[in-house]
Amino acid sequence: MAIDSKRSLETAALIVGAGSGQRFGRAKTLVCWRGEPLLYWAARPFARSEDVSRLVLVVREEDRSGAEEVLQRLGKSGSVVIGGATRSASVRAGLAALPASARRVLVHDAARPNVSMALLSRVLAADGPCVLPAMSVHDALHRETSEGPQIVDRSGVLRVQTPQRLDRELLAALHAASPEAADDGALAIAAGAPVRYVHGEEENVKVTTPEDLARLEKIAGDVRVGHGFDIHRLEAGRRLVVCGVELPADRGAVGHSDADAACHALMDAVLGAASLPDIGYHFPPSDPRYAGADSIRLLETVRDLAREAGWTVAHADVTVVLEAPRIGPYREAMRQRLADALRLSKDGVSIKATTAEGLGPLGSGQGIAAWAVATLRGRVE
Ligand code: MG
Repeated sequence: MAIDSKRSLETAALIVGAGSGQRFGRAKTLVCWRGEPLLYWAARPFARSEDVSRLVLVVREEDRSGAEEVLQRLGKSGSVVIGGATRSASVRAGLAALPASARRVLVHDAARPNVSMALLSRVLAADGPCVLPAMSVHDALHRETSEGPQIVDRSGVLRVQTPQRLDRELLAALHAASPEAADDGALAIAAGAPVRYVHGEEENVKVTTPEDLARLEKIAGDVRVGHGFDIHRLEAGRRLVVCGVELPADRGAVGHSDADAACHALMDAVLGAASLPDIGYHFPPSDPRYAGADSIRLLETVRDLAREAGWTVAHADVTVVLEAPRIGPYREAMRQRLADALRLSKDGVSIKATTAEGLGPLGSGQGIAAWAVATLRGRVE
């Protein structure tokens, strides 16, 4: 069977991100987008694919430890390799690190963090020794010249993206003479190798300038909203921790962990948006590991659980109901604590507080309650 024979050809992915980011203003491989470096998102589809056996992350020496952390979080076998002065030199460095068993190579730009699994499948499934994702051009094309503007015929013009899939032997042969080119497809064409195009994706943005990152933010991903609620009794002799900040109070919250009701409500909101089980499932009160636990650490774990499910937190809105003390003086410190745990800017976290106007058990100071809404953004699929 054709598909089985393709699957039997071991495929490795080279993620190339050793550039200095001249047009971006700084090296961008480890620039954060949705709580993770671009390198993480660029490599993630390859880590998820059963048809890719190994990752090679090619980065600058300065980014080595950051890239090693990314590789660990992706949970795929692979290695981190230091790139060269040019893109082609970096591909050669990655190529040299491939095991002999890798027969096909996917070369991908670390600056493209939004490849869908569908695009990767098309690149993997197409026949031929060199497969390139490409898009046709719909805008009019003009060229400025010293003799004045010229109109360029756009028929048949393609914008070529990555990941590009090449047979390992072909890729090695193309690079044997240490040539320089914009990408490996260009080398294949210069050498007269047969090339096949598959449909690229508009969402497969290459982050070249800071504006590209902003554009990506607008086009990529589904949005989900989750809601959480929590309540804890207040008693003398306990600490009162709200959104990771300890408040001066006569009475504190009773609970197995640090009893941070606001943090717990937010954790459930994040889990809810990702359709994951609630905090009682992940952190059972019967488990001694969570006795006195810092709920900010638990919130970080929840953030990671959501990310593994393909979601990142874009915004959190928390309402605290507490008679005393007043939240106002501590609000900014609380926002910062939650923002750091969720890897958001402080602008991504809202904390509101109210009293219960003396009504009921909350109004008589017997408890603290919190409601939270979390907005999560996901991948295109
Ligand atoms: Mg709780």
